[in-house]
Amino acid sequence: MESWPAGRIAVLMPPVPDHLASPHPLDLYEKRLRANLEGVCPECAAVVQLPNRHERRRAKARGEPANASMEHESWCPVGDEGFRQAIITGMN
Ligand SMILES: [Zn+2]
Repeated sequence: MESWPAGRIAVLMPPVPDHLASPHPLDLYEKRLRANLEGVCPECAAVVQLPNRHERRRAKARGEPANASMEHESWCPVGDEGFRQAIITGMN
């Protein structure tokens, strides 16, 4: 996991596999990182949803970081499923 500090939050991204067969996943990786750091997806314009006060307090009580989320459009290649498929395809 790679950590990208951004103010009081940290963005965690999986490392790029060294043996990607295609540059396409690298492009998506950069877009996903940009979406996570800037809070807006460059493909589908999804916006980051920050945890509310209750979620932050509950996470703090558990000693865990509160998680943000981003709901991408189903067709978005930067979303979880598109990103995962691109990485798998790029490794073959
Ligand atoms: Zn998106």
